[in-house]
Amino acid sequence: MAKRTMVKIDEKLCNGCGACISPCAEGALTLVNGKAKVIKEELCDGAGFCIGICPTGALSLEVREAADFSEKAVKKKTSEKKFQYIPQKCESCGTSEEDAYLLAIKHQGKSLWYCTHCLPRLIHG
Ligand code: SF4
Repeated sequence: MAKRTMVKIDEKLCNGCGACISPCAEGALTLVNGKAKVIKEELCDGAGFCIGICPTGALSLEVREAADFSEKAVKKKTSEKKFQYIPQKCESCGTSEEDAYLLAIKHQGKSLWYCTHCLPRLIHG
């Protein structure tokens, strides 16, 4: 247990859409009674990849006392039969994150993923 960066979920803002669940490669997030929750502190690495995808701004990072991040716990979690990580795809060309780097972009209340190949076109038209 030590102070470290963790994801913080504002339950008042969370609408339970579930969009943050699959971008978490460690499987740290789940939905409980229609609200996003961190399953176990040791699964959250505090990298914050879930933050950009949340359409309501319910996710942020905070520094607080938490159990140490554990690669071992992540391996156990992600090897569970029911754990299914869904790779994100570029909104423009459909390239999977397995083949390209993707960034989450906000537009009109939606969070969309774009690969670094398509992003310049989005920026410069
Ligand atoms: S993406 Fe945001 S609103 Fe949707 S479930 Fe996750 S925290 Fe809640």
